[in-house]
Amino acid sequence: MQGSAGEQLQNSYIGETCAHDDKLPTEPTANNQAVGGTCVVESLSLEEQILIGNTLEETAYHEAGHVVIAGAVGLDLKPLGIVIWEVAEDVTDGIASYWEDTAEWEKVLLALCAGQMAQLKQFPCSWTRGSQPDVQVFSKIVNTHFEQDRFREMHDNTNSRVASLLEIHWSAVTSIALALMEGPWIIVEPTEHPKAKRKKHLDGSTLVPILRRHGITAHVRNSQN
Ligand SMILES: [Zn+2]
Repeated sequence: MQGSAGEQLQNSYIGETCAHDDKLPTEPTANNQAVGGTCVVESLSLEEQILIGNTLEETAYHEAGHVVIAGAVGLDLKPLGIVIWEVAEDVTDGIASYWEDTAEWEKVLLALCAGQMAQLKQFPCSWTRGSQPDVQVFSKIVNTHFEQDRFREMHDNTNSRVASLLEIHWSAVTSIALALMEGPWIIVEPTEHPKAKRKKHLDGSTLVPILRRHGITAHVRNSQN
């Protein structure tokens, strides 16, 4: 998810350039792990949104990366699929929905890393702070399965596997990103998102045939089991 985790508010992005953009995220602190796993849309001022935001194109590749790798490793998609909300001019917030079953945690780690990696593969200088919610969930899963701190090791290993998978499945990522960008803007109901007026949406049943055209046999599953 391209998120707006609370901790982002504590960081300053003013004057930061691509060269300084740390592409390897730091492990979340115990404090912000408390919100890990939820896709919270915080209330940011317009100014803050612009400073930390990703464009439609960046978010499209990010969310496409999540879904393609989820499908490629055999995780089931959720009916919602991918939604990208426009929260300010040229600033978007997105979600890619697939099942994160506990037993499949190693596959979930791959899908979690794939968003930022797909985004950076296409847009090497784009902001990566939107991946913080993904990093928080990643850290939470690693901490659940290992007693010692294995975050860095697991993150490096997972990223290198995801890099190979993205090479293989890059045409699928591009197809989904383009389908998102070219799709119509849909009006957002006021209750759906606090800031967005319009969105792009590819639901699960639309994503499956795109994935299949690229050799990925994905499925949509409606409920937990
Ligand atoms: Zn993400």
